[in-house]
Amino acid sequence: MMNRIKEARSLLKKIPKVKLGFFPTPLQRLDRLSEEMGVEIYLKRDDLTGISQFGGNKIRKLEYLMADAVKENADTVYTYGASQSNHAMQTATACNRMGLHPLLFLTDIIGSDLSHPEGNLLLDRILGAEIHLEPLLGDSLKDTSIRVHRKAKERIASLEKEGRRCYEIPMGGANAIGSLGFVEAFVEVAEEFLLRGLKADYLYHATGTGGTLAGLIAGKKLLGSEIRIMSIGVGIGGDGYKEKVMKLADEALDLLEREERVHEEDFEVFEDYYGKGYEVPSEEGSKAIRLLARTEGIFLDPVYTAKAFSGMLDHIEKGIIEKGSRVIFWHTGGATALFAEREILGDIY
Ligand SMILES: *Cc1c(COP(=O)(O)O)cnc(C)c1O
Repeated sequence: MMNRIKEARSLLKKIPKVKLGFFPTPLQRLDRLSEEMGVEIYLKRDDLTGISQFGGNKIRKLEYLMADAVKENADTVYTYGASQSNHAMQTATACNRMGLHPLLFLTDIIGSDLSHPEGNLLLDRILGAEIHLEPLLGDSLKDTSIRVHRKAKERIASLEKEGRRCYEIPMGGANAIGSLGFVEAFVEVAEEFLLRGLKADYLYHATGTGGTLAGLIAGKKLLGSEIRIMSIGVGIGGDGYKEKVMKLADEALDLLEREERVHEEDFEVFEDYYGKGYEVPSEEGSKAIRLLARTEGIFLDPVYTAKAFSGMLDHIEKGIIEKGSRVIFWHTGGATALFAEREILGDIY
Protein backbone atom coordinates (compact mmCIF):
# COMPACT_ATOMS: atom_id res chain seq x y z
CA MET A 1 0.00 0.00 0.00
CA MET A 2 2.76 2.49 0.86
CA ASN A 3 4.19 2.11 -2.63
CA ARG A 4 0.85 2.87 -4.22
CA ILE A 5 0.44 5.90 -1.96
CA LYS A 6 3.85 7.20 -3.02
CA GLU A 7 3.03 6.58 -6.66
CA ALA A 8 -0.31 8.41 -6.36
CA ARG A 9 1.45 11.35 -4.71
CA SER A 10 3.98 11.61 -7.51
CA LEU A 11 1.19 11.59 -10.11
CA LEU A 12 -0.63 14.38 -8.26
CA LYS A 13 2.59 16.39 -7.99
CA LYS A 14 2.65 16.81 -11.77
CA ILE A 15 -0.56 18.87 -11.66
CA PRO A 16 -0.28 22.58 -10.80
CA LYS A 17 -1.60 23.42 -7.35
CA VAL A 18 -1.49 26.41 -5.04
CA LYS A 19 -1.27 26.03 -1.30
CA LEU A 20 -4.36 27.47 0.37
CA GLY A 21 -5.35 25.27 3.29
CA PHE A 22 -3.88 23.52 6.31
CA PHE A 23 -3.23 19.91 5.38
CA PRO A 24 -3.35 17.17 6.46
CA THR A 25 -6.52 18.00 8.38
CA PRO A 26 -6.85 16.37 11.81
CA LEU A 27 -8.12 12.80 12.02
CA GLN A 28 -9.95 12.45 15.29
CA ARG A 29 -11.33 9.36 16.99
CA LEU A 30 -14.71 10.09 18.57
CA ASP A 31 -14.17 8.20 21.81
CA ARG A 32 -17.43 8.92 23.55
CA LEU A 33 -19.69 8.49 20.55
CA SER A 34 -17.86 5.33 19.43
CA GLU A 35 -18.50 3.77 22.79
CA GLU A 36 -22.15 4.77 22.69
CA MET A 37 -22.69 3.38 19.17
CA GLY A 38 -20.56 0.23 19.35
CA VAL A 39 -18.79 1.30 16.15
CA GLU A 40 -15.41 2.99 16.01
CA ILE A 41 -15.96 6.41 14.43
CA TYR A 42 -13.19 8.67 13.14
CA LEU A 43 -13.89 12.21 12.07
CA LYS A 44 -11.82 13.66 9.22
CA ARG A 45 -11.83 17.33 10.10
CA ASP A 46 -12.14 19.09 6.74
CA ASP A 47 -14.18 21.70 8.57
CA LEU A 48 -10.69 22.85 9.63
CA THR A 49 -9.10 23.14 6.17
CA GLY A 50 -8.78 26.93 6.47
CA ILE A 51 -8.08 29.29 4.85
CA SER A 52 -10.42 31.30 7.07
CA GLN A 53 -11.88 30.01 10.35
CA PHE A 54 -14.77 28.74 8.25
CA GLY A 55 -13.09 26.14 6.09
CA GLY A 56 -14.60 23.16 4.35
CA ASN A 57 -14.15 20.63 1.60
CA LYS A 58 -14.08 23.17 -1.25
CA ILE A 59 -10.62 24.41 -0.25
CA ARG A 60 -9.10 21.11 -1.43
CA LYS A 61 -10.69 21.56 -4.85
CA LEU A 62 -9.75 25.24 -4.97
CA GLU A 63 -6.05 24.47 -4.54
CA TYR A 64 -6.15 22.89 -8.01
CA LEU A 65 -8.76 25.23 -9.52
CA MET A 66 -6.96 28.41 -8.47
CA ALA A 67 -3.71 27.09 -9.92
CA ASP A 68 -5.56 26.58 -13.19
CA ALA A 69 -7.01 30.11 -13.02
CA VAL A 70 -3.49 31.50 -12.55
CA LYS A 71 -2.25 29.41 -15.48
CA GLU A 72 -5.03 31.00 -17.58
CA ASN A 73 -3.90 34.48 -16.49
CA ALA A 74 -7.27 35.22 -14.93
CA ASP A 75 -7.84 38.34 -12.85
CA THR A 76 -11.44 37.46 -11.99
CA VAL A 77 -12.96 34.17 -10.83
CA TYR A 78 -16.68 33.50 -10.95
CA THR A 79 -18.79 30.68 -9.63
CA TYR A 80 -22.33 29.66 -8.75
CA GLY A 81 -24.28 28.35 -5.79
CA ALA A 82 -27.18 28.91 -3.43
CA SER A 83 -27.29 32.14 -1.41
CA GLN A 84 -25.76 30.26 1.55
CA SER A 85 -23.27 28.37 -0.62
CA ASN A 86 -20.20 27.19 1.31
CA HIS A 87 -18.45 26.76 -2.00
CA ALA A 88 -19.07 30.38 -3.03
CA MET A 89 -17.82 31.69 0.32
CA GLN A 90 -14.69 29.54 0.24
CA THR A 91 -14.04 30.56 -3.37
CA ALA A 92 -14.19 34.21 -2.29
CA THR A 93 -11.63 33.57 0.48
CA ALA A 94 -9.36 31.78 -1.99
CA CYS A 95 -9.70 34.60 -4.55
CA ASN A 96 -8.73 37.21 -1.98
CA ARG A 97 -5.75 35.16 -0.95
CA MET A 98 -4.69 34.96 -4.60
CA GLY A 99 -5.42 38.62 -5.39
CA LEU A 100 -8.22 37.75 -7.81
CA HIS A 101 -11.64 39.39 -8.00
CA PRO A 102 -14.43 37.07 -6.70
CA LEU A 103 -17.74 37.14 -8.55
CA LEU A 104 -20.62 35.07 -7.17
CA PHE A 105 -23.82 34.19 -8.99
CA LEU A 106 -26.17 32.96 -6.30
CA THR A 107 -29.63 31.43 -6.37
CA ASP A 108 -31.78 32.71 -3.55
CA ILE A 109 -33.78 29.68 -2.46
CA ILE A 110 -35.09 31.05 0.81
CA GLY A 111 -35.55 34.77 0.15
CA SER A 112 -32.46 36.42 1.66
CA ASP A 113 -32.40 39.94 3.02
CA LEU A 114 -29.32 41.55 1.49
CA SER A 115 -29.57 44.50 3.86
CA HIS A 116 -29.18 42.06 6.80
CA PRO A 117 -27.12 39.23 5.33
CA GLU A 118 -26.57 36.17 7.50
CA GLY A 119 -24.22 33.18 7.51
CA ASN A 120 -22.14 32.81 4.37
CA LEU A 121 -23.87 35.70 2.63
CA LEU A 122 -22.60 37.97 5.40
CA LEU A 123 -19.08 36.56 4.97
CA ASP A 124 -19.32 37.07 1.18
CA ARG A 125 -20.13 40.74 1.82
CA ILE A 126 -17.23 41.16 4.25
CA LEU A 127 -14.93 39.48 1.75
CA GLY A 128 -15.95 42.09 -0.82
CA ALA A 129 -17.22 39.62 -3.39
CA GLU A 130 -19.35 40.93 -6.24
CA ILE A 131 -22.69 39.23 -5.57
CA HIS A 132 -25.54 38.64 -7.99
CA LEU A 133 -28.52 37.21 -6.15
CA GLU A 134 -31.24 35.65 -8.28
CA PRO A 135 -34.63 34.90 -6.67
CA LEU A 136 -36.52 31.68 -7.45
CA LEU A 137 -39.67 33.59 -8.57
CA GLY A 138 -41.70 30.42 -8.21
CA ASP A 139 -39.56 28.59 -10.76
CA SER A 140 -37.87 25.27 -10.15
CA LEU A 141 -34.22 25.28 -9.11
CA LYS A 142 -33.33 24.12 -12.60
CA ASP A 143 -35.19 26.95 -14.38
CA THR A 144 -33.66 29.48 -12.01
CA SER A 145 -30.24 28.02 -12.69
CA ILE A 146 -30.75 28.59 -16.42
CA ARG A 147 -31.64 32.22 -15.66
CA VAL A 148 -28.57 32.59 -13.41
CA HIS A 149 -26.26 31.23 -16.08
CA ARG A 150 -27.73 33.55 -18.71
CA LYS A 151 -27.20 36.59 -16.48
CA ALA A 152 -23.69 35.41 -15.62
CA LYS A 153 -22.86 35.17 -19.31
CA GLU A 154 -23.96 38.77 -19.86
CA ARG A 155 -21.96 40.10 -16.91
CA ILE A 156 -18.85 38.15 -17.91
CA ALA A 157 -19.13 39.33 -21.53
CA SER A 158 -19.22 42.94 -20.37
CA LEU A 159 -16.25 42.43 -18.02
CA GLU A 160 -14.24 40.82 -20.80
CA LYS A 161 -15.07 43.72 -23.07
CA GLU A 162 -13.36 45.94 -20.48
CA GLY A 163 -10.28 43.74 -20.85
CA ARG A 164 -10.76 41.57 -17.77
CA ARG A 165 -9.85 37.88 -17.87
CA CYS A 166 -12.51 35.75 -16.18
CA TYR A 167 -12.16 32.15 -15.05
CA GLU A 168 -15.27 30.02 -14.49
CA ILE A 169 -15.57 27.51 -11.67
CA PRO A 170 -18.69 25.32 -11.87
CA MET A 171 -21.08 24.99 -8.93
CA GLY A 172 -19.38 23.18 -6.06
CA GLY A 173 -16.07 23.25 -7.95
CA ALA A 174 -17.28 19.98 -9.43
CA ASN A 175 -15.11 19.35 -12.44
CA ALA A 176 -12.20 17.00 -13.03
CA ILE A 177 -9.55 19.50 -11.90
CA GLY A 178 -11.41 20.25 -8.66
CA SER A 179 -11.95 16.56 -7.97
CA LEU A 180 -8.21 16.05 -7.86
CA GLY A 181 -8.34 17.70 -4.44
CA PHE A 182 -10.30 14.69 -3.21
CA VAL A 183 -8.10 12.16 -4.94
CA GLU A 184 -5.38 13.71 -2.81
CA ALA A 185 -7.66 13.69 0.24
CA PHE A 186 -8.26 9.97 -0.15
CA VAL A 187 -4.54 9.35 -0.37
CA GLU A 188 -4.06 11.49 2.74
CA VAL A 189 -6.51 9.50 4.87
CA ALA A 190 -5.30 6.16 3.51
CA GLU A 191 -1.79 7.01 4.64
CA GLU A 192 -3.01 8.16 8.05
CA PHE A 193 -4.72 4.84 8.67
CA LEU A 194 -1.78 2.87 7.32
CA LEU A 195 0.63 4.66 9.63
CA ARG A 196 -1.64 3.92 12.60
CA GLY A 197 -1.75 0.26 11.62
CA LEU A 198 -5.54 0.44 11.25
CA LYS A 199 -7.95 -0.46 8.48
CA ALA A 200 -11.19 1.46 8.00
CA ASP A 201 -14.23 -0.38 6.68
CA TYR A 202 -16.49 2.51 5.64
CA LEU A 203 -16.20 6.15 4.67
CA TYR A 204 -19.32 8.30 5.03
CA HIS A 205 -19.78 11.76 3.55
CA ALA A 206 -22.42 14.15 2.24
CA THR A 207 -22.62 14.32 -1.53
CA GLY A 208 -23.92 17.38 -3.37
CA THR A 209 -22.44 18.39 -6.71
CA GLY A 210 -20.43 15.17 -6.66
CA GLY A 211 -16.87 16.47 -6.98
CA THR A 212 -15.93 15.18 -3.56
CA LEU A 213 -17.35 11.74 -4.28
CA ALA A 214 -15.72 11.57 -7.72
CA GLY A 215 -12.32 12.35 -6.22
CA LEU A 216 -12.73 9.87 -3.38
CA ILE A 217 -13.71 7.05 -5.75
CA ALA A 218 -10.87 7.88 -8.14
CA GLY A 219 -8.49 7.86 -5.16
CA LYS A 220 -9.83 4.51 -4.02
CA LYS A 221 -9.24 3.08 -7.52
CA LEU A 222 -5.75 4.49 -7.64
CA LEU A 223 -4.79 2.80 -4.38
CA GLY A 224 -6.83 -0.37 -4.91
CA SER A 225 -8.45 0.23 -1.53
CA GLU A 226 -11.36 -1.90 -0.38
CA ILE A 227 -13.05 0.66 1.83
CA ARG A 228 -16.76 1.14 1.11
CA ILE A 229 -17.57 4.75 0.29
CA MET A 230 -21.08 5.53 1.54
CA SER A 231 -22.47 8.76 0.12
CA ILE A 232 -25.51 10.46 1.56
CA GLY A 233 -27.35 12.70 -0.95
CA VAL A 234 -28.47 16.14 0.21
CA GLY A 235 -31.20 16.68 -2.35
CA ILE A 236 -29.49 17.92 -5.50
CA GLY A 237 -28.83 14.51 -7.04
CA GLY A 238 -31.59 13.90 -9.55
CA ASP A 239 -31.59 11.87 -12.78
CA GLY A 240 -28.28 10.71 -14.15
CA TYR A 241 -26.41 11.62 -10.96
CA LYS A 242 -24.31 8.48 -10.77
CA GLU A 243 -23.39 8.71 -14.45
CA LYS A 244 -22.32 12.32 -14.01
CA VAL A 245 -20.14 11.51 -11.01
CA MET A 246 -18.68 8.43 -12.72
CA LYS A 247 -17.67 10.58 -15.67
CA LEU A 248 -16.03 13.10 -13.34
CA ALA A 249 -14.06 10.36 -11.59
CA ASP A 250 -12.86 8.93 -14.91
CA GLU A 251 -11.85 12.40 -16.09
CA ALA A 252 -9.87 12.91 -12.91
CA LEU A 253 -8.06 9.62 -13.58
CA ASP A 254 -7.42 10.83 -17.15
CA LEU A 255 -5.78 14.00 -15.81
CA LEU A 256 -3.46 11.74 -13.81
CA GLU A 257 -2.83 9.73 -17.00
CA ARG A 258 -4.13 6.55 -15.43
CA GLU A 259 -6.00 3.75 -17.15
CA GLU A 260 -8.20 2.70 -14.21
CA ARG A 261 -11.94 3.23 -14.70
CA VAL A 262 -14.67 3.52 -12.09
CA HIS A 263 -17.72 1.27 -12.16
CA GLU A 264 -21.31 1.60 -11.09
CA GLU A 265 -20.79 -0.81 -8.18
CA ASP A 266 -18.15 1.54 -6.71
CA PHE A 267 -20.96 3.95 -5.90
CA GLU A 268 -23.28 3.57 -2.91
CA VAL A 269 -25.42 6.68 -2.89
CA PHE A 270 -28.29 6.95 -0.41
CA GLU A 271 -31.01 9.45 -1.27
CA ASP A 272 -33.30 8.80 1.70
CA TYR A 273 -31.85 11.17 4.31
CA TYR A 274 -32.31 14.68 2.96
CA GLY A 275 -35.93 14.96 4.06
CA LYS A 276 -37.95 17.55 2.16
CA GLY A 277 -35.09 18.87 0.07
CA TYR A 278 -31.89 20.87 -0.27
CA GLU A 279 -31.53 23.54 2.44
CA VAL A 280 -34.66 22.22 4.18
CA PRO A 281 -33.73 21.00 7.67
CA SER A 282 -34.62 17.44 8.66
CA GLU A 283 -35.58 16.35 12.14
CA GLU A 284 -33.02 13.54 12.09
CA GLY A 285 -30.36 16.00 10.97
CA SER A 286 -31.14 18.36 13.85
CA LYS A 287 -30.88 15.39 16.21
CA ALA A 288 -27.47 14.50 14.75
CA ILE A 289 -26.27 18.09 15.27
CA ARG A 290 -27.28 17.95 18.94
CA LEU A 291 -25.81 14.47 19.44
CA LEU A 292 -22.34 15.33 18.11
CA ALA A 293 -22.31 18.70 19.89
CA ARG A 294 -23.37 17.11 23.18
CA THR A 295 -21.07 14.07 23.07
CA GLU A 296 -17.97 15.55 21.45
CA GLY A 297 -18.38 19.35 21.35
CA ILE A 298 -18.23 19.46 17.54
CA PHE A 299 -20.70 21.23 15.25
CA LEU A 300 -22.25 19.77 12.11
CA ASP A 301 -24.19 21.87 9.59
CA PRO A 302 -27.89 21.42 8.82
CA VAL A 303 -27.63 21.29 5.00
CA TYR A 304 -24.94 18.64 4.43
CA THR A 305 -23.07 17.02 7.28
CA ALA A 306 -26.01 16.65 9.68
CA LYS A 307 -28.01 14.75 7.08
CA ALA A 308 -25.03 12.57 6.20
CA PHE A 309 -24.36 11.91 9.88
CA SER A 310 -28.01 10.98 10.45
CA GLY A 311 -27.69 8.51 7.57
CA MET A 312 -24.61 6.94 9.13
CA LEU A 313 -26.33 6.70 12.53
CA ASP A 314 -29.35 5.07 10.92
CA HIS A 315 -27.11 2.54 9.15
CA ILE A 316 -25.48 1.74 12.48
CA GLU A 317 -28.84 1.34 14.21
CA LYS A 318 -30.18 -0.88 11.42
CA GLY A 319 -27.06 -3.05 11.43
CA ILE A 320 -26.16 -2.12 7.83
CA ILE A 321 -22.86 -1.28 9.50
CA GLU A 322 -21.89 -4.19 11.69
CA LYS A 323 -20.99 -3.56 15.34
CA GLY A 324 -17.24 -3.34 15.79
CA SER A 325 -16.69 -1.80 12.34
CA ARG A 326 -14.34 1.11 11.84
CA VAL A 327 -15.90 4.10 10.10
CA ILE A 328 -14.57 7.42 8.82
CA PHE A 329 -17.02 10.31 8.73
CA TRP A 330 -15.74 13.09 6.50
CA HIS A 331 -16.64 16.42 8.11
CA THR A 332 -16.90 18.61 5.02
CA GLY A 333 -17.56 21.85 6.94
CA GLY A 334 -20.55 24.16 6.54
CA ALA A 335 -21.27 25.08 10.16
CA THR A 336 -21.70 28.74 9.18
CA ALA A 337 -25.23 27.62 8.26
CA LEU A 338 -25.90 27.51 12.00
CA PHE A 339 -25.94 31.30 11.66
CA ALA A 340 -28.02 31.37 8.50
CA GLU A 341 -31.74 32.01 8.18
CA ARG A 342 -34.14 30.07 10.39
CA GLU A 343 -35.60 28.31 7.32
CA ILE A 344 -32.26 26.58 6.84
CA LEU A 345 -31.49 25.98 10.49
CA GLY A 346 -34.83 24.58 11.62
CA ASP A 347 -35.69 23.51 15.14
CA ILE A 348 -32.26 23.10 16.51
CA TYR A 349 -32.35 23.03 20.30
C1 LIG B 1 -20.24 21.31 -0.95
C2 LIG B 1 -20.39 20.58 0.31
C3 LIG B 1 -20.55 19.18 0.33
C4 LIG B 1 -20.70 18.35 -0.90
O1 LIG B 1 -19.56 18.30 -1.69
P1 LIG B 1 -19.72 18.07 -3.26
O2 LIG B 1 -18.36 17.98 -3.75
O3 LIG B 1 -20.47 19.26 -3.79
O4 LIG B 1 -20.53 16.84 -3.46
C5 LIG B 1 -20.64 18.55 1.55
N1 LIG B 1 -20.59 19.25 2.70
C6 LIG B 1 -20.47 20.58 2.73
C7 LIG B 1 -20.45 21.27 4.05
C8 LIG B 1 -20.35 21.30 1.53
O5 LIG B 1 -20.23 22.63 1.57
